[in-house]
Amino acid sequence: MIQLEGVTKVYRAGAAEVRALDNVDLTIKAGELVAIMGPSGSGKTTMMNILGCLDSPTSGRYLLDGIDVSDLDDDQLADVRGRKIGFVFQSYNLLSRTSAVVNVELPLLYSNTRSRRTRAAAALAEVGLADRAEHLPNELSGGQQQRVAIARALVTEPAVLLADEPTGNLDSTASGEIARMLVKLSDAGRTVVLITHETEIASYAKRVVKLLDGRVVADSGGPDKNRHGAGDRDAAANGNDAGDGVSVTEVAN
Ligand code: ADP
Ligand code: MG
Repeated sequence: MIQLEGVTKVYRAGAAEVRALDNVDLTIKAGELVAIMGPSGSGKTTMMNILGCLDSPTSGRYLLDGIDVSDLDDDQLADVRGRKIGFVFQSYNLLSRTSAVVNVELPLLYSNTRSRRTRAAAALAEVGLADRAEHLPNELSGGQQQRVAIARALVTEPAVLLADEPTGNLDSTASGEIARMLVKLSDAGRTVVLITHETEIASYAKRVVKLLDGRVVADSGGPDKNRHGAGDRDAAANGNDAGDGVSVTEVAN
């Protein structure tokens, strides 16, 4: 699904050069949930920008869902981004005067899609919020608002869901709810990349990739390892999800 080969990103600031990513190889399979961790300055945002087709590598190759996106220009990148990537950020970025279901519909407005409302309702059901469709954001908890944002990211059926610190504004209960949601989406076949600096949140992912100075310094589930063995994520995911209203019914990818 995602293949980075020797990906390097160099920023130049005057005479100085920063290797924000330094020869990164990383393969992520469909249906994986991978947490990316690393201290400030380690290259997480740069990695997110490249994975999300917001920026191109200086050198190396990036294959996304079978497409080589390494050398695309900005317009081509924007096109791939719109079709292949769903983004979730720390701030939910919902329109405050608009109901949950209309927020979820927004990414479909520019595509020539019939049955927008049906698809938005299905995405809300996928994150367990079918009964909150008509609520305004301020009538929802933080965790519920982030689930609406996840539904909005999923409604276009992206190949990859990229979540950048999605629990950064949430208390620990809501953070766990969001982490379990991401686990369920991956169990249903979604490919999810979760950027976080919180160890508890990363522990929900079977595979954790650690960055330091632009390099991958640890990968708990490299090629062939990542689908085996029950990790913390199973304990975390299975221990607690009865009655939390989170449901996943749809299989994507
Ligand atoms: P993280 O998200 O892990 O904190 P970043 O990817 O933001 O790390 O940054 C990695 C390195 O690249 C840092 O040393 C940062 O200062 C540098 N960097 C990031 N963006 C730019 C830029 N636009 N111009 C110059 N240097 C940058
Ligand atoms: Mg960052």
